[in-house]
Amino acid sequence: MSNLAYKIDILVIGGGQAGLSAAYHLHRLGLKGGKEFLLLDKSPEPGGAWQFRWPSLTMKTINRLHDLPGMRFAEVLDPGQTEVRAAEAVPAYFRAYEQRFQLPVYRPVTVRLVCGRGERLRIETDHETFSARGIINATGTWDAPQIPYYPGRELFQGRQMHTHDYQRPEEFAGKRVVIVGAGISALQFLDEISRVAARTIWVTRRPPEFHEGDFTAEDGRAAVARVEERVRQGLIPGSVVSVTGIPITPAIRAMQDRGVLNRQPMFSEITPTGIRWPDGREEAVDVILWATGFRSALDHLAPLQLREENGGIVMTGRLATQAARDPRVHLVGYGPSASTIGANRAGGAAAGELVQFLGLASSTSE
Ligand code: FAD
Repeated sequence: MSNLAYKIDILVIGGGQAGLSAAYHLHRLGLKGGKEFLLLDKSPEPGGAWQFRWPSLTMKTINRLHDLPGMRFAEVLDPGQTEVRAAEAVPAYFRAYEQRFQLPVYRPVTVRLVCGRGERLRIETDHETFSARGIINATGTWDAPQIPYYPGRELFQGRQMHTHDYQRPEEFAGKRVVIVGAGISALQFLDEISRVAARTIWVTRRPPEFHEGDFTAEDGRAAVARVEERVRQGLIPGSVVSVTGIPITPAIRAMQDRGVLNRQPMFSEITPTGIRWPDGREEAVDVILWATGFRSALDHLAPLQLREENGGIVMTGRLATQAARDPRVHLVGYGPSASTIGANRAGGAAAGELVQFLGLASSTSE
């Protein structure tokens, strides 16, 4: 490893939907890959976090994948093939996308630390060190699973796992499983596991909000606007899904009919053999599956001190991708842009604004 930093204008960190969109727009704005911008990605293959998602998550069971800018998903996979695993289809699409636009992606390279060095930012990785004038951070959430603390957690003799570790329902055959969480993943796990487990218990902190009918584009915009408002105020974003509620799909209805959709309130304690509610009621369980979401994987940015006292980051700019404390730093796939469509737009906004801020090119991206 050399001590000399490789000088570059803009470094994109993370090769998921948000990072690829940013790289595409930098390329369109006329920046030269390799000399003026690079993308570093920790994952071994193209595909962002999609490559790690569980095998039963198919193109049918995901919400919806929005096309990356400039190339349709349908060019890689017929949209009618809904039974294909998301962990195969999306990486194949991203790989073709990187090749089509000859994006300068380097992997696997993990960014360990970003710190301010006067006019420039110093980026330390497990390979080279870089010196950049600006960064677009697109590191997603997959590497930061969130598990709330409950007393007794460390004493539990069974298995505890998170969405991050879920693979297939067969591993729960004959077991007593408690699934924690009110999101779409929790419901998918409940659906699959309840077919093979001896018993499933579904607990959530608040009663989940189910709604009839399809989720409209207007609902989506309203949810994104609420999260955007939060990050502009420097509050912790919360997930876009947490403010959209859960649509009643045929799968949810079938779960209702099978009698497995019996939500219970959150337990207050974990015992060596199970869980205990505040009224003293206990259940013995073998597995606690925490489908309790993720936080943004931003630890490598800690030296930049972007966070406020409350842990949030004040965001500014057209789509709230720019860190108010350091305008050279954009966060995409964060807060309001933590979805495939949001990541697309955020990548474009961040690329355009950063290029302009650094005085690198005169044109504007779409
Ligand atoms: P990611 O896809 O996570 O990519 C981040 C990349 O950065 C990864 O390759 C990672 O290895 C890399 N990285 C991380 N840290 C570093 C580092 N320090 N150095 C270098 N590289 C690093 N959205 C939808 O629109 N529709 C859906 O159906 C949908 N389903 C989802 C299901 C699940 C289970 C989850 C968790 C999310 C889902 N989302 C969905 C959200 C969506 O996947 C993301 O918001 C979107 O794809 C944007 O991803 P991203 O680029 O921000 O992050």
